[in-house]
This record gives sequence, structure tokens and C-alpha cells, in this order.
Amino acid sequence: MEQKMAQLRRQYAQKIEGRIADLQTTIHHLKHAEGGARLDNLAIIRDATHKLAGSGATFGFPAVTEYAREMERACIWVLENPGRESDEDAKTLCANLEKLCQRLLDDVVAQSQEAAEVDDSTERVWVPQLHGSARKKVLIVMEYDGTAAAQVHQEMNHYGFDVRIVDHPDKMLDDLKSHGVVDVIVTGLLFDRDTSAALSALAMMREDSEFKDISVVVNTVLDTMSARLGAVHAGAKAYLVKPVDMANLIDVLDRVTQNHEDEQFRVLIVDDDETLASYTELILQGAGMETKVVFDPMDVFDALDLFSPELILLDLYMPTCDGHEVAGVIRQREEYAGIPIVFLSGESDKDKQLSAMELGGDDFLTKPIRSSHLISSVRIRAARFRELRSFMTRDSMTGLFNHTTTKQFLGIELARAQRNKKDLAVVSLDIDHFKVVNDTYGHGVGDRVIKALARLLRLRLRSADIIGRMGGEEFSAILIDTGVDEAAQVFDIIRKVFSEIEFTADDQTFRVTISCGVAAVPDYNTAQALSDAADKALYAAKNGGRNQVVKAP
Ligand code: GH3
Ligand code: MG
Ligand code: MG
Repeated sequence: MEQKMAQLRRQYAQKIEGRIADLQTTIHHLKHAEGGARLDNLAIIRDATHKLAGSGATFGFPAVTEYAREMERACIWVLENPGRESDEDAKTLCANLEKLCQRLLDDVVAQSQEAAEVDDSTERVWVPQLHGSARKKVLIVMEYDGTAAAQVHQEMNHYGFDVRIVDHPDKMLDDLKSHGVVDVIVTGLLFDRDTSAALSALAMMREDSEFKDISVVVNTVLDTMSARLGAVHAGAKAYLVKPVDMANLIDVLDRVTQNHEDEQFRVLIVDDDETLASYTELILQGAGMETKVVFDPMDVFDALDLFSPELILLDLYMPTCDGHEVAGVIRQREEYAGIPIVFLSGESDKDKQLSAMELGGDDFLTKPIRSSHLISSVRIRAARFRELRSFMTRDSMTGLFNHTTTKQFLGIELARAQRNKKDLAVVSLDIDHFKVVNDTYGHGVGDRVIKALARLLRLRLRSADIIGRMGGEEFSAILIDTGVDEAAQVFDIIRKVFSEIEFTADDQTFRVTISCGVAAVPDYNTAQALSDAADKALYAAKNGGRNQVVKAP
């Protein structure tokens, strides 16, 4: 990534001298032109300097941005105040433009020489780290009691966490130093017995820059002001008073360990300046986002449908049409009415920025922009968009797709599978005797069982697979590129793992099982046939004694 970035800078430096030479030629023409021809030349200079101003500092030429912006402003003044310029003014303008252009060139030449003298390996540009692919979350549990520790260990493993136990506060920092950073620390009985030692261990951890951002969840019998205050001082993100149901604890752990791993936002970049577009693309990709660049605004329409972006970064001034017009077109389409549109432009005039946003922009970022600012503006807006859209497509309790959306996906994925001659499997799943769970332990406990199953499905299936809650305690999964046998195997493992999860309600523990029906292409070749066959197989599993997976004939 750093190499690519350095390469982009070199490319830019190579091209920029040519662009400045063109600029000098136009200024030369301007000196001798009159009337319409003069205005044409001024407009060319305005556009060229606008681009230089937007890109210079980004690629390490801050003086270019400064001088070019001054030239741009001078041209804009003349273009926007026709007839108000005296002959004397016109002469001064040309002289000024020539002078600024020369300074600009001097700066670029000086910088290029400097860069040539510097060894390439020392050329370092700040590039955000790529996020690792999805991995198991690691947690430390502070627990001195061996039996309790073993139980926590086993249960957490069911939920897909890697667990390390420390049995003394002093050992926590040692563990971190020898085994590396974890995602979250959960206090156990250690906290109850020796609160102040546990708190000071956490405080020491915060002083270490490597560990200061680790999330802490306090799980304790103590419900006093001083214990709670201690937890706040230790930077705890959650405070749970025992008895705590495991499913509840998992919910909290999921929440506090949620990071940017699954935030692979899709960002569409519309910019006619190729080098700058590549630069933006590199920064966003470095932050783990997926990007697509469109150089010609006329291609935006197709890109919307093919790429289905979650945010659009729009340049303002482009040859075929302006960014704010593109925004207007996007907003005409109902399905894209809510998508965030962020202008990324060299335009620094606030009035022009505001009027550009009238047709539907959400924000205006001025080039050059610091990469960290760009990343966080994009991330915040894309995350909000994703959240808002999820209200319509997802089930609020489990976060899985709702019935309607799952059905829509089945149609889309089936068509895709048939086009690409790939397998596709559909699984219908239902919790066994769920009414008994509700009747015995109450609806709230029943809800927790549903959530635990949803979580297990998400954990065990691939991110491309589609998981829906079809209603009540019925789920459906669409497995991409998977045949009937493989799907049945995967769900038999899920069935087994789920049946081993121990739920607690009051002082009782209980287990729950599931039944599944599987159907796949090419045995069934329409969406209706697939789901009917999977449902039928599910009934067969129920009739066959439940807690089993049945394949459709
Ligand atoms: P079977 O093994 O045949 O599937 O038996 P069952 O008891 O699971 O099936 P049934 O369809 O008779 O009962 C499902 C129950 O699920 C009835 C309903 O009250 C309950 N239920 C539906 N949605 C929810 C929910 O969101 N939360 C809770 N706690 N219960 C729910
Ligand atoms: Mg059921
Ligand atoms: Mg049911």
C-alpha cells in the first residue's frame, strides 16, 4: 500500500511539470487575446488551477495548492464580474498569473530534486492499516475459581470466543505482554473478592499505550456506588450485576467488541482526475472499504446498480456535467434517495459549497483533505446509512434479514446461481418444542434462545450466505455455491453445537434442539419449489423425532 502511494506521488510529480507548461502557454495566449477568446483562456486557467489546487498538497506539494488557488480566485473574479476590469487590471492580472505560475514551477522543480536525492526507502506516507479478515474475538476472564473458569471457558467457546483465564490481578498485564492484545476483558469472581486489586490492574493496563483501548466488561455481584465508580474509572464499557444470563453477556460482548471489521463499506468515487481518484481509493481501501471509481459522471447510473454503493464521493467540477447535477439525478431515483452523497472538491467558497448541496449533497469536504478525516467522514455517514436501511430489511431482535428480504434474496441468488451454473442450497430451520421453553421459563428467556440461535448461524455460516428470520422461531438460510450434501453437513454441525449450549433461567439450566430441512439446485429449480421442498423436509425432520437434519428427496 505504501509503495503504491509513493508510486502515485511520483506519477503526479512527473505529470505536473507538463501541466504547468500548458498553463504557461495558456497565460501567454491570454496576454494577446481579446473578448470571447480571452474569457475562454481565463476559463481554461481557472479549471487547470482548480485541479492543481485540489491535488497539490495531497501529493506533497502544498505550495502548488496555495499558488494555484490564488490564480484560480483571480480568474474567477474576472469571469464573474464581466466588464468591470480596466485594461490596466487585465495587464496586472497577466503579470500576476505569470509570476505565480513561475513560483509554482520553481517549487515543483525544487521538490522533485529533493525527492530524487532522498532514498526511496525513506519515503513514507501514512497509510492506514488494513483490517484483518474476520477472526475469533479473544477475551480474558479474571477468575480465580477453577470450576467457574472451566465453565466460562467452555460456554464462551460455544459462542465463538477464544478465552484466556487469569487467576490473579497481577497476572493480567503479564498475560497481555506475553500473549498479545485481546478484544475484551471480563471481570469474574476476582473482582468480587479483591475489587481494589482488580481495579488497579485495569488502571495499570490503561497506562500502557498498547493496551489502553481494550474494552472492559465488569461482571460482578457487587452493586454499590463505589464499585460502579471504580468501574467507570477503569473505563469499563458495561457493568453487569450477577446473576447474568450467558446470552445476555454474549450480547454485551458482541456490542463492545464490534469494530470496523465488518464495516466493509462500499464507496463509489466519481472524479475525472485519475491520479486523485486512485489516491482517494487507496486511502479508503486501506481503511478496509470497497471502492469503485467512475471517471465519467455519465457512467454513474450503471455503477449505482452494479456496485450498489453505501456512499458516493463526488467531485464538483467535471467535464460532462457538474457534481451537483449528478447528485440531482441520483436523488430522482427513489431507491437511492437516502444514500449519503459527499462532495470532495477543491472548491473553497462556502456559498458555492452550500449551493452545490441544495440538490441533495450531505456534506462538503475540501481538497486537500487529511486521510484520517476522509476515512472518518465516510465511515460515519456510511454506517448511519447502513443502519437506517437495515431497519427496513432486517428483523430488529436478531439483526437477521426479515421474511420479505430473505425471499427477495432467494430470487436474486437463484438467478445468479443458474447463470453461473453454480450450486445453491436452501435450509428451513425451526426450534423444537419452543412453546415449552416459553411456557416454562417465560417469553423473555425464549427470546434469548432465539437470539443465541441467530448468533450461532451468523458465526457458522459464511458472510456471503443469507440468513433470515422468517417469523417466530423459524429461520431460513440460503447457502451460496453449496450442494445439498454439503449444506446438510454444515447444518448437522450447527444442530449439534446448538444442542450443547446450556441456557440458564432462574436457577435451572436447560438445552434446546432444532430441526432442519434442506433442498438444493438442481433438484429444485424455482424459488418456490426450493422453499417448499425445504419446508417439507423440515416437517419430515419434525415427524422423524426432531433434533435432526433431513434432505429433500
Ligand atoms: P415444534 O417442535 O413442532 O416446532 O413445536 P413448537 O412448540 O416449537 O412450535 P409452535 O409453532 O407450536 O410454537 C412456536 C411458539 O413460538 C409459539 C409462539 O408463542 C412462540 N414464539 C413465536 N415468536 C416468538 C418470539 O419472538 N419470542 C418468543 N419468546 N416466542 C415466540
Ligand atoms: Mg418450533
Ligand atoms: Mg414453529
